[in-house]
Amino acid sequence: MKNSLLIGRLAGIRIFLHWTFLLLLGFLVFAEVRRGSDSGAVLTSVGFVLALFACVVLHELGHSLMARRFGIGTRSITLLPIGGLATLERMPEKPRQELLVALAGPAVNVAIALVLYPFVAPLGAFEGIGLSHGTVGLGFLTALFWVNVMLVVFNAIPAFPMDGGRVLRALLAMRLGRPRATAIAAGLGKLIAVGFVFYGLFNAPFLVLIGIFVYFGAHTENVSVQHRELLRDYTAGHAMLTNYLTLAPTDTMQQAANTLLAGSDQDLLVLDPAGQAVGVLTRPLLMAALRDNRLTTPVQEVMSREFETVEIGDSLTTVYARALRQPNAFFPVLENQQLRGIIDQTNLTEFLTIRAALSH
Ligand SMILES: [Zn+2]
Repeated sequence: MKNSLLIGRLAGIRIFLHWTFLLLLGFLVFAEVRRGSDSGAVLTSVGFVLALFACVVLHELGHSLMARRFGIGTRSITLLPIGGLATLERMPEKPRQELLVALAGPAVNVAIALVLYPFVAPLGAFEGIGLSHGTVGLGFLTALFWVNVMLVVFNAIPAFPMDGGRVLRALLAMRLGRPRATAIAAGLGKLIAVGFVFYGLFNAPFLVLIGIFVYFGAHTENVSVQHRELLRDYTAGHAMLTNYLTLAPTDTMQQAANTLLAGSDQDLLVLDPAGQAVGVLTRPLLMAALRDNRLTTPVQEVMSREFETVEIGDSLTTVYARALRQPNAFFPVLENQQLRGIIDQTNLTEFLTIRAALSH
């Protein structure tokens, strides 16, 4: 993740700290000092937040290690001030697997709470819930115990894509299928997210951030699942553009600019005399060359030679997933090494719009 600091590895997974997390620690120290706390209290406070986030890392590790059992790797775990985020290579699509992966995180906090319980019970853990300084003073472990209990309770809220929401989606998917289950879980997730924002505005500002995070998370994941469903039975050959403009490696930038004007294509494919794709002249590359007044420079000196291709028989869901990973997807479509068409972001979107219209 961008703007993050690598702090170490656990079970081979890189753990990152988002820079805003340092802001949180700084704010905490500032608040303590302003309150007139001595250095011991400041250290306890900082130590507590670090212990809390260690529990969050272990929670995320629970998700990651369960996912690993199903052959799904984890790119990284990132700590944000509002919680942790394990970036799995993909989400498990089988409901039973998603259920177990979602449960594995909170299960870690249950285990931590159980381990802490014998230490906190004699201290009167049940007399006062809360993270006031009185409680921290009462006992570091007591407060940590309650934090883990709260993590379990909070994650049980069925606000997709939070853990409880994933459990709900997985359970619904067993009966209704994944697209329908996701639509319902995402709808409920958005509703609860709006609740978080309104409640948070007056009571707990961090809940506003979580609400926004949940709302957009639910939206994005639902759109992606519905899109995959629409694309499920199709291949690259169904969606590719067959009417497109191309350039020769020896064409000049002036000719490239004229070609761009003649059509609506954003990127232009460069073909050698044998008709093989040898490069892509993207719009930004062309514009940069024009700004430098390189009107007579041949295309082959400016074009990008690094481009991904897809096979005509590739499933569109795979192509869609690959397109999501890059800002301006542009894939030549090949059949037996021969160029048959092009797929880009625009015509993928058009194909989706048409499928959505026809499916109603
Ligand atoms: Zn979780």
